[in-house]
Amino acid sequence: MSFDPRAVTGIPTEPVGSMPRPSKLQEAYAQYDAGDIGKEDLETLQEAAVKDTIERSEATGAPIISDGEQRWSSFATYPIADTLAGTGLAPGLAPGGQFFAIFADGHGRQLPKLVNGPFKYNQYAADALRKSLPLASKPMKQAVIAPSMLALLYPLKDPVEGYSREEFEATLIDECEKDIREAFAAGAVRVSVDFTEGRLATREDPRNPWTGAGLLPHFIELNNRVMARFSAEERVNIGIHTCPGGDRDSVHSADVPYNNLLPEMFKINAGYFLIQLASEREKDPVYENIGKNLRSDADGVTQMAYVGVINPGNPRVESAQEVCDRLVRAADFIPKEQLGSTDDCGFSPFSIDEKPNHGSPDYARDVAFQKITNRVEGTRMAAEKLGVS
Ligand SMILES: [Zn+2]
Repeated sequence: MSFDPRAVTGIPTEPVGSMPRPSKLQEAYAQYDAGDIGKEDLETLQEAAVKDTIERSEATGAPIISDGEQRWSSFATYPIADTLAGTGLAPGLAPGGQFFAIFADGHGRQLPKLVNGPFKYNQYAADALRKSLPLASKPMKQAVIAPSMLALLYPLKDPVEGYSREEFEATLIDECEKDIREAFAAGAVRVSVDFTEGRLATREDPRNPWTGAGLLPHFIELNNRVMARFSAEERVNIGIHTCPGGDRDSVHSADVPYNNLLPEMFKINAGYFLIQLASEREKDPVYENIGKNLRSDADGVTQMAYVGVINPGNPRVESAQEVCDRLVRAADFIPKEQLGSTDDCGFSPFSIDEKPNHGSPDYARDVAFQKITNRVEGTRMAAEKLGVS
């Protein structure tokens, strides 16, 4: 399918990926982990949730949609586990690895740990996408996880016997490349790489030792090793998503200055960036920083900055006018030809998420689709105002 990101809204607009799973589906995950229902029962509910997500996403008028990651344990663990409780864990992994993040509200999300090699994905993003595509009539995107996130599966201090970090990371690069290639081959028109650990990498949280290990340059390098596998033409449609986290309506690195990350992040030779911004208190310095560091030639591709205009952690629905105003302001700092819009994050990166600020995941879904409708409309208004078509 050929895809023109400007065809519908002038200024391109794209979601990050996830949607809150309906309460019924979240209950089913718990029943599946407890052995009370089988995989087929779980998959029936996942299928129904995807169908509802796609229908409602298409009704927003959005030019490109996702399946809401309704079949996934989380944005980070889909290749390695069927559920967040660890059912269906990939070979060589065991529960109880390091925390990927400790969020502002005090809750944490823990990864499994690598105990022996060789490592391999259990499933690829395309496995879910192939089931979802026949339900859609609009172009679909696919999010995949960054090699830098899964690098955290390797213990920070003690090496895995007979399997070096270098060998493991080489495999991660291969697997991430395959994840992206298969998503395109399945029919995705765009693939974005979730890089939420980028901003967190500069946080130095003593409760979470990897954040103080100065890993950002290494994370950038890992992602660029993946990008180097793709041509400039391919990389036009490969993105990077950055955010301060989004889980249970809380964040993990909003207090870390964006300046620590952005100049480094644009060194990744990706074609576009989905950048959290709506929930940023001081937006102008971030727009300015993006404008300064966004590259017109990143190994043959002109980078695009899709700025966040919607906050998935807050139930207040941004108006189309607000979205428009934010984009017009951003265009004071970022060339309008390189500007796009997005949501700050997925609306629910983890499958089990009660969305406390919203009161329930089902209500949060209603809110999310309204927000997306206004993102699309507000983006169209901004394109008109800025004369972009
Ligand atoms: Zn995010």
